[in-house]
Amino acid sequence: MKDLRSLPSIDQLLRTSAGEAQIQRFGHTLALEILREYLEDIRSDQIKGVPAADQILNAVEARLAEAVKPSLARVINATGVILHTNLGRAPLSNASIAAMEAAAKNYSTLEYDLKSGTRGSRHVHCEQMLTRLSGAEAALVVNNNAGAVLLILSALFHNKKVAISRSQLVEIGGSFRIPDVMRQSGARLMEVGTTNQTHNQDYVDALDDGAVGLVRVHSSNFKIIGFSNEPDLVSMVDIAHQAGALIVDDLGSGSFLDTKDYGLNHEPMVQESIKAGADVVSFSGDKLLGGPQAGIIVGRKVLLDKIKKHPLARAIRADKLCLAGLSATLSHYLIGKASQEIPVWKMISHPVEVLRERALCWQDQLGFGAVIPGASTVGGGSLPGETLPTWLLALKVKSPEKMLKYLRMSEPIIIARILDDHVVIDPRTVFEDDEGDLIDLLKHYYPEHRKTL
Ligand SMILES: *Cc1c(COP(=O)(O)O)cnc(C)c1O
Repeated sequence: MKDLRSLPSIDQLLRTSAGEAQIQRFGHTLALEILREYLEDIRSDQIKGVPAADQILNAVEARLAEAVKPSLARVINATGVILHTNLGRAPLSNASIAAMEAAAKNYSTLEYDLKSGTRGSRHVHCEQMLTRLSGAEAALVVNNNAGAVLLILSALFHNKKVAISRSQLVEIGGSFRIPDVMRQSGARLMEVGTTNQTHNQDYVDALDDGAVGLVRVHSSNFKIIGFSNEPDLVSMVDIAHQAGALIVDDLGSGSFLDTKDYGLNHEPMVQESIKAGADVVSFSGDKLLGGPQAGIIVGRKVLLDKIKKHPLARAIRADKLCLAGLSATLSHYLIGKASQEIPVWKMISHPVEVLRERALCWQDQLGFGAVIPGASTVGGGSLPGETLPTWLLALKVKSPEKMLKYLRMSEPIIIARILDDHVVIDPRTVFEDDEGDLIDLLKHYYPEHRKTL
């Protein structure tokens, strides 16, 4: 047992000038609670010895700062993965940020009809832009696309049979599994075809067998190559509509721009699905669209009316910040400025010579590192296996793992990656405003930890 007689009392500690300052800064309740916890750690010997009053107050100050620090911290993404789900997917355009700030600061016409001076609907806010961009009759924005899929299936297919190809019973990540979501919605799942082969006749048979809908899910994060076949959307629409059934298309990422124009494989586009005749289409707001987190549903008005009335629609409704940010993002597409204004598209279309110049400029400022060709990815469950050519700043250090950890623990946080035993920094996803911080941290760490031959 240690001798605790020299341990100051809570009152004594709080009456010191440092203690009083902590009460001022952090409030009496929190300051007292953290101090109590710390003293308890001393008594239970979690903290060795009996520190003096000023040592205790210093340690408590650090714990107080930690307790009020937001855990969502800014990150410099040096991975070259543009839609990095773990790092928050799409950074927003300036106009979207401004719109969200205005919506956060002020009252707004969120659910207010100015003409009549009575209650309005939040559903109107992005609807016109979405119908104009997609060619659909109606649209609805909800909290995310996982919610959108659950809502669509619940509203249209509860207790009804729906057919889906076995090749599309996918897991998106974050435990979002299509078969589980279908069960949760109360839809009765009819699996058709096989993992690699599904034919028109499989859908025809399912409809003969009582299915009232066909569901197509974009495989998003993986590719089946080799001996594989899947009916295209136009054939599925034909088959469904001939049987008086519906067709729902979950695009996952979904895009209004053609990724082919940016040297990538073609990613399904929203307007193509509507044109092909899909009755309801859903996609994410924060994947290739490049907006805030949202699930977007577009399609036929009678069906959207039904979906909007379902109780789940209220449970997963979009908030005002999302609607404000999303409409600003959509306006970039409407006026043909998406690739100039939306960060995701700016990063996708970043010219490779500019990336090389930026990496060379970093090398020049640092006086170390090598500039090597590499590959960035789009991420966010889109374009699996596809890469964009880039140039990387490569640093040879004794322990790449240790350097990554140092960068993770730094302020601001930098997330980089390892390639062939080097730490590599991809300029594609590093904002120009962040370059100064990045260079400072590298300068601080590298010379001492470099690997020499
Ligand atoms: C990403 C994805 C979802 C989920 O979208 P969130 O917006 O992340 O909820 C659903 N379906 C598919 C096919 C996806 O790729």
